[in-house]
Amino acid sequence: MVKRRFCLVFLVALVITRFAWADSVQETETHKLTEVGKGIYLAQTKARLFNSNALVVINDEDVLVVDSHITPTKGRDLISTITSLTDKPVTTLINSHYHYDHSHGNQAFTEENSPYLPYLEIIGHEFTRMKLSRQPLQRVNFRRGLAGTQSVVDRLQRKLAEPLDIKQKEKLQEQYDLMVSHLAEWDEIMPVAPTLTLSDRLTLFRGSREIRVYFFGRAHSGGDLVVYFPEEQLAFTGDMMLAGPSWLGDGYVDEFPGTLEKLKSLAIKKIVPGHGMPFTDIAKIGLVQEFYLDLWQKTKHLYEQGVSAEAASKAIDMTNFRESLGVLRVGYDLLAVSRMYERMGGEE
Ligand SMILES: [Zn+2]
Repeated sequence: MVKRRFCLVFLVALVITRFAWADSVQETETHKLTEVGKGIYLAQTKARLFNSNALVVINDEDVLVVDSHITPTKGRDLISTITSLTDKPVTTLINSHYHYDHSHGNQAFTEENSPYLPYLEIIGHEFTRMKLSRQPLQRVNFRRGLAGTQSVVDRLQRKLAEPLDIKQKEKLQEQYDLMVSHLAEWDEIMPVAPTLTLSDRLTLFRGSREIRVYFFGRAHSGGDLVVYFPEEQLAFTGDMMLAGPSWLGDGYVDEFPGTLEKLKSLAIKKIVPGHGMPFTDIAKIGLVQEFYLDLWQKTKHLYEQGVSAEAASKAIDMTNFRESLGVLRVGYDLLAVSRMYERMGGEE
């Protein structure tokens, strides 16, 4: 009887630890860390600047990281956060996709004084390797990001030259200094491409942990990877699946719903996106699919009528997603519309 009771208590404890995971939060000097599964941390920079989420996965013997942040400096901050969590070495860095805000911290992991050489492997889709190894600093989205940051610096500088009271001036000066130092971080970027590529799927076995990496098809970019943890039923989806629609200026809106359909084939309890907080409302995948289908149809209708991309971007009305996705205004991002027009014209 005692034995049976013990077994029952053990079983209940097992069920609680298996299904009642509660995310806990801790902070380092540079990061907020949310433990989204046992030994799996969402790492978000505390700097008040545009950046991306990274995932830090502490295994029995080593550490795996997904995405490396926006600049080498931010990548180094991530490394110092990891070393404050564990002294196990990072052996694997996965790039969810090639966009600069997720991959230009790569060099921090491979530079001469990195603690992780010479065993580090960088995994990415073959499309990601192609993009990161062929003049990525000349790519439109990187140049646009750089120009955008520069224009914020210029705007703050102009405002600082205006007559201001002391408090306003102090506040602006602080923002200006922050942006100038952020911009300076871009100067040393030397993109580092994946050293191991996949076209379809890959499974890593690290101690007791199984980690699956999937490419389900083109979506937000041509090489979006999903990193899936079957034990936790947790998926890091990069920018392919955020809590709402993704940026589509470089995407494949026509193929996006089909790619998300394959994501739905996984048993998922929690999604950690490339930006923003984790979420458990998995029905959002279906909602975002509907959004892309509707957006593509509305855009195609205008394209076929010969409406310019500029005029279409003002006319497209997605406010039927006001309640469900918070779309408040008529109109859609011109970059996304231009990209859809390219796809409709047969461009890759
Ligand atoms: Zn992206």
